[in-house]
Amino acid sequence: MIQMPDQSDLLSLCKRRGFIWPSYEIYGGVAGMFDYGPLGCVLKNNIVETWRSIYKNREGFIEIDSETVNPVQVFKASGHVDEFSDLITYCDDCKEPFRADHLVKGLHENPDILSPKELEELFRKNDVRCPECKGKLGPVEDFNLMFKTTIGPGSSRVGYLRPETAQGIFVNFLNLYRYNRDKLPLGVIQTGRGYRNEIAPRQGMIRMREFNMMEVELFVDPDDKGWERFPDVENEKMTLIPKDGAEIVITVGDAVRKGIIANKVLAYFVYTTQQLMLTLGLDPKKLRFRQHLSDEMAHYAADCWDAEALLSYGWTEITGVADRGCWDLSRHAEFSGADMTHFRRFDEPKEIERDAVKAKHKALGPKFKEKAKLIAEAIESKRPEDIKNGSLSVTVGNDTITLGEEFFEVARIKEKVSGERVIPHVIEPSYGLDRIFYSILEHAYSYDEKDDYVTLRLKPNVAPIKAGVFPLMDKDGLDVLAASVYKELQGSGIPSYYDASGAIGRRYARMDEIGTPWCITVDYASVEDGKEKGTVTIRDRDTREQKRIKVCDTEKIIRKLLSGTAFGSL
Ligand code: AMP
Repeated sequence: MIQMPDQSDLLSLCKRRGFIWPSYEIYGGVAGMFDYGPLGCVLKNNIVETWRSIYKNREGFIEIDSETVNPVQVFKASGHVDEFSDLITYCDDCKEPFRADHLVKGLHENPDILSPKELEELFRKNDVRCPECKGKLGPVEDFNLMFKTTIGPGSSRVGYLRPETAQGIFVNFLNLYRYNRDKLPLGVIQTGRGYRNEIAPRQGMIRMREFNMMEVELFVDPDDKGWERFPDVENEKMTLIPKDGAEIVITVGDAVRKGIIANKVLAYFVYTTQQLMLTLGLDPKKLRFRQHLSDEMAHYAADCWDAEALLSYGWTEITGVADRGCWDLSRHAEFSGADMTHFRRFDEPKEIERDAVKAKHKALGPKFKEKAKLIAEAIESKRPEDIKNGSLSVTVGNDTITLGEEFFEVARIKEKVSGERVIPHVIEPSYGLDRIFYSILEHAYSYDEKDDYVTLRLKPNVAPIKAGVFPLMDKDGLDVLAASVYKELQGSGIPSYYDASGAIGRRYARMDEIGTPWCITVDYASVEDGKEKGTVTIRDRDTREQKRIKVCDTEKIIRKLLSGTAFGSL
């Protein structure tokens, strides 16, 4: 049976040892808001760095950092103003708000897809009442999850806090495309805060109102969904739950060949997500990828695979890998008028036929005299779809002139072209940093009931502190040597912790509880033989095995262990 940690024990450890604290606690706290303490900050940064090392170092993607407050137009275009909502109901008696779909869990297979009317009907049939006071529930309605604000004084300049970092990348597409010298594929990453005014966050770090995201937007040519590095991962295995089937373990290559994952790019990034999660220390037995059902998909997605971690809350989405198609760029092009296309160059120039707007010079000359030439040019720069109700508006100098059909016509022309413009498609792995952070802690938490002993089995690469350094006694020069070992490690960029207080067993326990992989103890033998020849003990957290190493080799050995050398082979 898979063991699950006790949530309250883990949360109390997190609070006591400075991983996370409920925000504004002295004022009673605010649901869905948490602060990262000193150890939490380091763990969180280590997750971000591991993510960067995959996407920036290995894949060569570029990183940006865009604004978190956005004008209303951005989210009108992205669809969030109209679509980004959950269904809410209030208790008629105590006025407490609830997510309507959460109240019918167990009464329907997938409450997420129910309409307000269907939810009200389920309430009525099953006599669902307010969980707080058993009062009657009111009507079910949409509640937009974005935090609204104004940009500058006055109520007319509406802005929103971003619910995802992705839009900051889409609105910068032209800058990014230019930076990439007009080439695709173009991979862009961004990490930062996202804000969602969750209706009733009751699941700790799983549902926060202000949370951290690590998003990746990969722009690809819509006709080219191959991926250069696909052969590197083709034979690797993943656990998938396709939308119309049961859980399977399958290779990346077979998932594409059998049409389970639509294309190689999407499959490559589903697998990359698995790699990242395992590198961060998630338990492979508690990780799977589930495909969204068609009616569960976000408004922008053409296909989506969620990485789910098995937590004490049940299987929980921690990352979404979505094929967003051309939704975002098309919408921003439509709402802003900007040209969000990529120029796809042909191998050889092609002759094509197309409809073009042609000027009727014989009619333009007598009417517009010396201006006729400029007007004719303006007409021929237009597209047939610019003709509205038989008229065409053109701008020449400061004048906008509306012309009737006597001045232009649509004709079929032949021309040689070297390429064509297409709207790139987007593949998006979107990582919820806080959920990943929490999953790492749950999967690493191990409690030995017999000894009432907690060990956080964090992987060394994410552990906030890599080495504890202790003098066996806080005197006789042991303290001086231990302090110098600590300073050397810390100074060389290996986060370490010096602890001289209490019994040595207590000191080990304090380090085990926060996931420190190794502890160094300086004893009398270390001092007697001097710094060059003297030895210290190094203890491994998970096996509790101890070895003696030379004092002067400490830094080198910790580095070896950090790069993956097994403790047993030292
Ligand atoms: P989404 O854009 O909804 O697919 O969200 C992307 C990722 O952000 C999810 O996979 C979650 O890990 C994370 N996430 C979404 N909403 C929240 C929230 N309210 N609190 C914490 N993490 C969240």
